[in-house]
Amino acid sequence: QICLKKKLSKDTPPRYDWFQTELVVTVVIYTKQKDIVSESVIVDLEDDQLRAETRLTEYSYLLHLKLSYKVQEDISVHIAGKVGKIELNMKKTDRTTWNELGRPLKAHNSFTKHKDQDLFYRKCKLVAKNDIAYNTKLFCLQLPLGTHLQVPIGQHVYLKHTIEGIELVRPYTPVCHSLQPELQEATQCTSRCIYLMIKIYPAGAFTSKIDSLQIGEDIDMSNPTGNFNKSQLQGVKHLFLLAAGTGFTPMANLLRYAVNNNSSLRKIKLMFFNRTENDILWRDQLKQLDLKEQRFAVEFVLSEPTEGWIGKQGKISLPLLSDFINTSTEGSKPLICICGPSMFTEQGIRFLQTLGYSEQEIHAFTE
Ligand code: NAD
Repeated sequence: QICLKKKLSKDTPPRYDWFQTELVVTVVIYTKQKDIVSESVIVDLEDDQLRAETRLTEYSYLLHLKLSYKVQEDISVHIAGKVGKIELNMKKTDRTTWNELGRPLKAHNSFTKHKDQDLFYRKCKLVAKNDIAYNTKLFCLQLPLGTHLQVPIGQHVYLKHTIEGIELVRPYTPVCHSLQPELQEATQCTSRCIYLMIKIYPAGAFTSKIDSLQIGEDIDMSNPTGNFNKSQLQGVKHLFLLAAGTGFTPMANLLRYAVNNNSSLRKIKLMFFNRTENDILWRDQLKQLDLKEQRFAVEFVLSEPTEGWIGKQGKISLPLLSDFINTSTEGSKPLICICGPSMFTEQGIRFLQTLGYSEQEIHAFTE
């Protein structure tokens, strides 16, 4: 007997199969890859349409079908990561035997690069809105029951709104509910919730519209996208975070992850640039974390301080950075993440390069 052993490459397309019982229809996706995690799988079930995207390095495998019959609203997703198998279970609305799973829709059964795919949007419900600064709110958006989606650390989503016939789209990086893991989420906010910290600009058409959303109203939210990967933290001993204004948002999840899940990090330092004290987002939480977590330290720098401010002042500069990222990092692998207004990020990267940090040691969050 000749056994042809097929070599699995990163480019090997997954395949799918389906089966049914009287009550349940199950779709199985065989990714042919190991270590599939929950955030690699994005599923949307709406009425009788199923869209399941599996992200494998830079490729996505898409199932996109109009199902033969309507199913119940929710879907359960099971991932057997070690064997690369994904199971989607849908509940039938009656005991009809299905002859086929459904009819193919656009790009069904395709395996293409993420960057060549259209961003998919689903309607999310605003379930909470809380002030966190005079001009910034924490919006809690709830995913529909038929959606399975987790935003990877450092990635962003887009919100879409049509204003006077013009479709406007803006990127936002989800944050954790709080920096303190022990803080329980509000009862209505479950793992189906995505938290967005949004600064409301009075003259900004988009943010004013978001601000006027009432609890219970819907807004379109896209699939996640972004250029950060948790694996960039592998082997890192010193993590430096440089954030300006709402550029803090990608740092929030990263910081929480670094503190709670990465024991190999010896030092985590955040330098947070703002105009005034009132603009500092989650100041109390950051100070508390600084007190509680030995490895973490935060420094606030204000560009428009009031007279009483005794902390650091000014904008991003070479002396500020060389002082902050001091030479104790010699011989150990640092990662420096930066995010804020584009001029801030560009200047910061130039200063870091002047200080001798390489491309691999600097990560700029961009949209
Ligand atoms: P802001 O205008 O209140 O400024 C905050 C601080 O940034 C200032 O105190 C100053 O220190 C610094 N700064 C501002 N302009 C600067 C300049 N021209 N040169 C050097 N430093 C400067 O900030 P904001 O209104 O909160 O805006 C935050 C920005 O971050 C937005 O532009 C947003 O698009 C960006 N952002 C990007 C991402 C991402 O790329 N993933 C995520 C979140 C926010």
